Amino acid sequence: MRRDHDSSTVATPFNVAIVGAGIAGLACANALAERGVAVTLFDKARGPGGRMSTKRLEQADIDLGAQAFTARDPTFQKALASWIALGHASRWPNVSYQASPNGWQLHHDPQPRYTGAPKMSTLTRHLANTFQTHPRSTLHLAIRIEQLKRLRNGWQLVDTQRRWSGPYQHVVLTTPPPQTLPLVTPWDGALTEACHARPQRSCWAAWAILDGPLPLPPGGEHGWQMAHVDHPALRLVSRNQTKPGREHQPESLSLMAHLDWSDSHLEDDPQSIADALWAAFRSLFPADATLPKRIASGAHRWRYAQPSTADDQLYLYSNSGLALCGDSFTHSRVESAWRSGTYLAQALVDRSV
Ligand SMILES: Cc1cc2nc3c(=O)[nH]c(=O)nc-3n(C[C@H](O)[C@H](O)[C@H](O)COP(=O)(O)OP(=O)(O)OC[C@H]3O[C@@H](n4cnc5c(N)ncnc54)[C@H](O)[C@@H]3O)c2cc1C
Repeated sequence: MRRDHDSSTVATPFNVAIVGAGIAGLACANALAERGVAVTLFDKARGPGGRMSTKRLEQADIDLGAQAFTARDPTFQKALASWIALGHASRWPNVSYQASPNGWQLHHDPQPRYTGAPKMSTLTRHLANTFQTHPRSTLHLAIRIEQLKRLRNGWQLVDTQRRWSGPYQHVVLTTPPPQTLPLVTPWDGALTEACHARPQRSCWAAWAILDGPLPLPPGGEHGWQMAHVDHPALRLVSRNQTKPGREHQPESLSLMAHLDWSDSHLEDDPQSIADALWAAFRSLFPADATLPKRIASGAHRWRYAQPSTADDQLYLYSNSGLALCGDSFTHSRVESAWRSGTYLAQALVDRSV
């Protein structure tokens, strides 16, 4: 990164800047780097992962975004097999329930699901580490890209500290469309329109760490791992300590709110959200059941949690050298975001030959 723009730097025949080190950006970065492309990857967060992040608390690690992902696509299945072989991913959950205040029923999911092991962010950290083993691959964390500049020799990225980076032949934006808008609006009408056409939903994700094990749910079993919940506020509960490699951690829940409920409580304070989702969870047990106490709780607001509607484009590319990918161009799923980044990388390479 440089403080001033240095126009003497010559662009390599094919180099790419990627904004966003979530699963789409990491997949794109690795697929390009494997093909010998020089890639510089930026994320505003202190760690990679985006919506696959894990919150590290004193007592336990809590997955706050994606809980478990599918692997329907054969290319993604191949990548997943390599992560499983390395111990970075594992099948989970194996025991799911459908829960309501009227009782719990076993949920038969025909689709196998997987999670990062021992935490969801292990997977994205692994992808970030693999990326950095490639020559001419650079990962910049804690850098928020604020502007793009188009100069004669390529694209420049400008961050919030007014530092410039470039020139790049291509810029891949994996950020959710509302965060992509200020970057593309001055340069590309079609991409700007594409961002406007992909509004996002918000989602509150709460956590509760407990001072003991949960009682037997009505109609359920002690070993339940995940529950789809029939409640106006709460839609899904995961037990983090049932995830592979976290068995030594205390009872700890991820509590995912419904999108409509999240919208109507968007500006509430996080502790009141944590309390409301805990109360919703409590209602899934008989009133006379004794539940363990919460020793820590909180909530994270994902303002751009998922696109309002699914799409089938995978990615968008403009002749100016700007490209958009991520889950907003496909489905709001880990594997879809991975496919989006991977297939965009292939398209960029194909265009350059
Ligand atoms: C609560 C929740 C639960 C979910 N559950 C599941 C699930 O169970 N299964 C499943 O398959 N999927 C699930 N998903 C969806 C899944 O997490 C996403 O589809 C996927 O992670 C999106 O990846 P991405 O790379 O497209 O975007 P992101 O992960 O959002 O990556 C974008 C990155 O861009 C960075 N960024 C943004 N602006 C800038 C900027 N200006 N400069 C630099 N960096 C920037 C962000 O920090 C972020 O890291 C869930 C999502 C949420 C929020």
